[in-house]
Amino acid sequence: MASTQIKTPQEAVARIAYLASDVVVSVQPSLAAESDFSATLKSLASSRTQSLASKAADAVTEIIPVRHNNDPLLSVFTPIRSGRLVSVTTTSEILLSSIAHLYKLAQLPVVLHVALGPKSLPDYTAITSIRNSGWTFLQSNSLQEAQDLALTAHALAVHSGKGVIHFFDPSSSASEQPIAAEDISLVQEILNLDNVRRFQSASISGSSIYANDGRVAVAPEQFEPVASQTVLDAQEVELAPAQDGADESAQTSQQQSEASEASEASATPSASIATTIEEQAPVVTSEHIYKYVTSIWAKLNELAGRQYSAFEYSGPSNAENALFVFGSGSPLFAQAIAQAQSDDSFAKAGVLTARLYRPWLGAKLLEAIPKSVKRVAVLEQVSRKTTKWGPLLIDVLTSVKSGPGGVETIVGHQLGYISQETVVQALRGIFQNLTSEKPVQNLEVGEREAPKEASEYGLEKPKLETAYTKILDQLFGERAYIANSIEKDNAGVSNTISATPEYGFGALLARKERKQKFVSEVKEAASNGQFSSDAPKQALAKWVANAEDAKKVEEVASEAVSKLSEDGSDLSKSLLEYKQFFRKQSLWLVGSDAWSYDLGNSGVHHVLASGENVNLLIIDSTPYSERAAADANRRKKDIGLYAMNFGNAYVASTAVYSSYTQVLQAMDEADKFNGPSVVLAYLPYFGEHDSALTVLQETKKAVDIGYWPLYRWNPENEKKGESNFSLDSERIKKELKEFLDRDNHLTQLMKKEPSFGAVLSEDFGTEIRAQQKRKAKDAYNQLLEGLFGAPLTILYASDNSNAISLSKRLGNRGRARGLKTTVMCMEDYPVEDLASEENIVFITSTAGQGEFPQNGLSFWHAVKDNTSLDLANVRYSVFGLGDSHYWPRKEDKIYYNKPAKDLDRVLANFGAKPLAPLGLGDDQDADGFQTGYSEWEPKLWEALGVANVDGLPEEPAPRTNEDIKLESNYLRGTIVQGLNDTSTLAISPDDGQLTKFHGTYMQDDRDIRDERKAQGLEPAYSFMIRCRLPGGVSTAKQWVQMDDIANELGNETMKLTTRQTFQFHGVVKSKLRPAMKAINRALMTTIAACGDVNRNVMCSPLPAHSKYHRAVWECSKRISDHLIPNTTAYHEIWLTDDDGSKTQVGGNAVQDFEPLYGPTYLPRKFKVSIAIPPHNDVDVYAHDIGLIAIKNEDGSLAGFNMTAGGGMGATHNNKKTYPQVGRMLGFVTAADVHIACEKVMLVQRDNGDRKNRKHARLKYTIDDMGVEVFKAKVEEYWGQKFEEARPFHFDSNVDTFGWTKDETGLNHFTMFIENGRIEDTAEFQMKTGLRAIAQVHKGEFRLTPNQHLILSNVTDEDKPELEKLLAQYKLDNLHYSALRLSSSACVAFPTCGLAMAESERYLPVLITKLEGVLEEVGLKQDSIVMRMTGCPNGCARPWLAEVAFVGKAYGAYNMYLGGGYHGQRLNKLYRASIKEEEILTIMKGLLRRYAKEREEGERFGDWTIRAGIIKATTDGTNFHEGVAEEEGDEE
Ligand code: SF4
Repeated sequence: MASTQIKTPQEAVARIAYLASDVVVSVQPSLAAESDFSATLKSLASSRTQSLASKAADAVTEIIPVRHNNDPLLSVFTPIRSGRLVSVTTTSEILLSSIAHLYKLAQLPVVLHVALGPKSLPDYTAITSIRNSGWTFLQSNSLQEAQDLALTAHALAVHSGKGVIHFFDPSSSASEQPIAAEDISLVQEILNLDNVRRFQSASISGSSIYANDGRVAVAPEQFEPVASQTVLDAQEVELAPAQDGADESAQTSQQQSEASEASEASATPSASIATTIEEQAPVVTSEHIYKYVTSIWAKLNELAGRQYSAFEYSGPSNAENALFVFGSGSPLFAQAIAQAQSDDSFAKAGVLTARLYRPWLGAKLLEAIPKSVKRVAVLEQVSRKTTKWGPLLIDVLTSVKSGPGGVETIVGHQLGYISQETVVQALRGIFQNLTSEKPVQNLEVGEREAPKEASEYGLEKPKLETAYTKILDQLFGERAYIANSIEKDNAGVSNTISATPEYGFGALLARKERKQKFVSEVKEAASNGQFSSDAPKQALAKWVANAEDAKKVEEVASEAVSKLSEDGSDLSKSLLEYKQFFRKQSLWLVGSDAWSYDLGNSGVHHVLASGENVNLLIIDSTPYSERAAADANRRKKDIGLYAMNFGNAYVASTAVYSSYTQVLQAMDEADKFNGPSVVLAYLPYFGEHDSALTVLQETKKAVDIGYWPLYRWNPENEKKGESNFSLDSERIKKELKEFLDRDNHLTQLMKKEPSFGAVLSEDFGTEIRAQQKRKAKDAYNQLLEGLFGAPLTILYASDNSNAISLSKRLGNRGRARGLKTTVMCMEDYPVEDLASEENIVFITSTAGQGEFPQNGLSFWHAVKDNTSLDLANVRYSVFGLGDSHYWPRKEDKIYYNKPAKDLDRVLANFGAKPLAPLGLGDDQDADGFQTGYSEWEPKLWEALGVANVDGLPEEPAPRTNEDIKLESNYLRGTIVQGLNDTSTLAISPDDGQLTKFHGTYMQDDRDIRDERKAQGLEPAYSFMIRCRLPGGVSTAKQWVQMDDIANELGNETMKLTTRQTFQFHGVVKSKLRPAMKAINRALMTTIAACGDVNRNVMCSPLPAHSKYHRAVWECSKRISDHLIPNTTAYHEIWLTDDDGSKTQVGGNAVQDFEPLYGPTYLPRKFKVSIAIPPHNDVDVYAHDIGLIAIKNEDGSLAGFNMTAGGGMGATHNNKKTYPQVGRMLGFVTAADVHIACEKVMLVQRDNGDRKNRKHARLKYTIDDMGVEVFKAKVEEYWGQKFEEARPFHFDSNVDTFGWTKDETGLNHFTMFIENGRIEDTAEFQMKTGLRAIAQVHKGEFRLTPNQHLILSNVTDEDKPELEKLLAQYKLDNLHYSALRLSSSACVAFPTCGLAMAESERYLPVLITKLEGVLEEVGLKQDSIVMRMTGCPNGCARPWLAEVAFVGKAYGAYNMYLGGGYHGQRLNKLYRASIKEEEILTIMKGLLRRYAKEREEGERFGDWTIRAGIIKATTDGTNFHEGVAEEEGDEE
């Protein structure tokens, strides 16, 4: 016996179901809430417990969780048809609504385990109502029985090929002791695996749920077709004659397979009664069922010693009275009878129960009843009685002939709630009635209602789903009325019912009626009411006159309410009780995608058909990634299309995680629309605890691909001559397109928005992918035709450009050697051609954790999973690019060049012959991957016999950024042509380099990159635009203008960057020029915000000393203006009129002159910042030029100490790259500072490394030259000398939050903007709030280098209003941990093309996970500078943080420790490539230690050094030295 203890019947049943099925459909209250079965199922699956039923040796049972209101039985059809054994664990509440499926599924060996509900008083009507659906029904009454009968059910289903419902009341075993879990070998034996296999290998006809498809019994014996006269062996099963069941309507529609109900019925095969019957279903009669079940029980008895039979009788064999219990009370009754006193009326009575409830074997009942029994009381726990006689009573009556000599009296009772306390009294009542002369039929026994308990399947609303209801709240406030809100007390109506559209609709109609009544009452009061004064009457009269006018009623409502409040009379008070009726109500019904299935859909239809002014908000939570996995038979309706077809409804499809603004717009329009409105709202999630990031990513994929298009449909628009349809996303699905095409809506839309043309006409789908492949193949064949010599095919997979360039170069070299060479990307190569290749070469880089790059993945999968590849005639070679130190731990070494190694091995396994041995390029080699490559390539030529070819042409030098700049005609390139090309969302790579100088980068949305690729679409290209904003100062008006740009032209968000400027993301190509123009209209520019030029000049933003600050800021402006490029290309490209007349682009007609930069600009980017001590908030040491403002004694600005050669960018594992801090050059006066900056820049222009961009920053120039030499050079260019640096002092590099007052009396408020992202969410309307503030604010906004925001120059007079707004939008909240306030992250995913890991979206999550420990060890108020970036480029200046995380691969980070608190010292690598779990463990340990060990005032970074945890980095040149042990672990 297994030692596991089973405590509840659900646990017992779930375990058996798991062991005996291939698939268990687990019906749950919601996907986030467990059922009483699901926890057991999940734990078995997660411990990978093997399924006994499964054919595969180590297969784990598949668990399909389905929401109870999502038509759960639909999920059974597909697996059972494919020969997999399916069982369902559920409560009884799904049964009635699933009746259509039940009839169909009865013909298949499905097992339904049904826990009867509600828990307090189970209603057996759920069973009696479906008793004629053709299933076999087994009932258990105790824990042990639940386990045994569950097993019986499975064995019987497989044996008979028919559906079995095993039902039980879980409460009847509530007080039982745990039992031992059934032994596996016993389960196996009872189940009979031979039968299981026979089922699994048989085929099922029919492919849709409408087709007929019965199962043959898999029992080895074959049954002959049954003829009526031979059907039953009277010896074996004697059936009682059928009695006229005239009273029971169900009897007439009884399914014929229930042969035992009437003897002739069994002559008819048990065919399905579903719509289309194609063939006779197999014949399995009640005789067979009985035979099978008794043999199963006999086996069980033999193995476990427990006996079961179709009807069970307990009690004395000479009993005269018996109870036949069909309800929860049988154990209670049996116990009470056993304990009865001899003089009790019920002493010596027997108790009967039906173990096999259907088929009903009347003859077996007769056998079970002792001959002595004269009276039978039938007790039925059925609440919904639709017939005069209870169903069981009729069963008994039809089976038991009453009359002298046998059972004389059969009396039906309706069983209610019975408890320990009331059972004796109930029995007395029953027996009194039973033994009376004229017993009363249908007597009620027990309480009608059980004590209240929480409903099992209460529709708790997942927390995530509150996002939309919160928006309703924001938009309509008190006006919003949600009829089916879960929070509402629906007067005793169960949540399940109150959540249906029908119920909610009824409630709304009732509310509307109430409102009408209220209007009449007010009317009456306005003319005849008894008020204390006349004022209310006038106001009410005005209100009544406007009551139907939504707009006007708003204006008069407040007056009416205030007059009534002042009046104070009884009438006023009674009217005020319904004061919400004075305003227009926004009536909403909130539902889920359960309404998209047939069951709920009828309710939606009802609402639409009514034409009533009611709004439906339907939240769909099916994750995009799971849509394909969804069962093809699940007929989810497209409610949007359905409603649009209806014609009278407003329809919108929205997704809060895609466009918050569009949700607002849709809800507002729905509210205004005078008729039914349907707002579909997407909120995909897998489980309640999904992070916002998961929801966001799923939403983006769905919207982008067109699975969930965003649109609005307003039938009213037509009247205004506008298009009914507005598309708010870019791609739509086929069905919607077809609908719109039908009435020309698309044509209208495209006329209005021509830019939609391209995307609309393109249907998404896998077909495109196939087409692309065909095209690639054609091109390939064409190429081959024109070539001679031995063929050589080169396939590459690359995630940066190295593998591509190598492949192309190899191709050229091959061609030069006379080979018939083609070069292709692996993903475009038709794998079926592989076997016919002669010579093939693969070049692949290494992605992520030793994976193939994205564009090689599909090829790799196709090859590796191929079972029939024969490459015996193919010669091949593989070259891989990797980094042997990228994953420093020993156990991770396998990732080094893994794709190349894997491919090499697999090709060899398929019989391919090596041309040249596997070549491996290592970034760690002296010459990087070239070292390995130059060994490999000659071997290849050797093997191909073309090693010594004369007269090879000279190869052109690779094109560099310097070439691009030089040829660009002062940054023009072909940008304009690229912008005008509407066939792609991209621009050319060269132009991509050049647009950076104009302040814009091309990016693609990496959240949807893979999905788009899978769909055959180009990446979702869009542009990032960065403004130039010296010192980060913006006027309030500019703020509003920026906000408009984000809303109208970008992705509805703005980023305040670490360089104090605005950055927009998601600007598509067609909107790029309008956005640039809008920025310039706002008197800002974007020129030189990126590129190899001097970028935005930073300046400490907090005007603590206003006048002094102003003088410093003016210097930053002066430096910025002085160093700005001169090219006129910027104006030509972005700012000329659209008619082209003023455009001067193209050719060399205009020759610009760049006095400072020259035609090739700088070798690399160049950054200047100014710090005003004691704040080093700009991180002055991190920039090419750092200026530290120095005061005169009178407080005026003297000038600046200048540092040079700071810089953050580095490359993982490349020790030639490192971050560096600026070195002190000396003091310059304020008047000369821009000239000194210019000279530093010019020395870099002339001496920086233009060959190697990784070595081109000023830091390397200075380190190579030496500081003194460099300084002398600058002085030489300048013609002046630096003065001795002057003393200064820094306190910190974080922001000073809250209000400060400067010496002129103006106020400044620094607010916390987490990682600089300005956006609205359902929880926090930060963007709306800042806009509202900008509209009244008379001062400025200052962007801080830590990505926060200062509301600056606020007079005392204006302060209260701004404080109010700050509070209203929660922007004054500074109650964050000091760690959070001191944190900073770069953008990284999804837009930054260089990101290796999440940053902005992840750091807040990580900090939340650390805050518990901070609280625990008392560090909540202690500032520790923590920064994160997605790659080592270092945009958030991670190397100067006390603790930093720098992305290494998705989910993995390098951790650095030991930075100086005020940005004076670089940190050092502590751990490489660690993931969240490890990060948390390390951080928690360090924080605990720091809290204990720190000295007074000692900073975290300093402590890590003193405690010996990390060595100090004293200069960038020793950044890589003495790192913690793991990186040093070289092999
Ligand atoms: S640090 Fe790297 S990942 Fe982050 S924004 Fe900069 S380039 Fe992108």
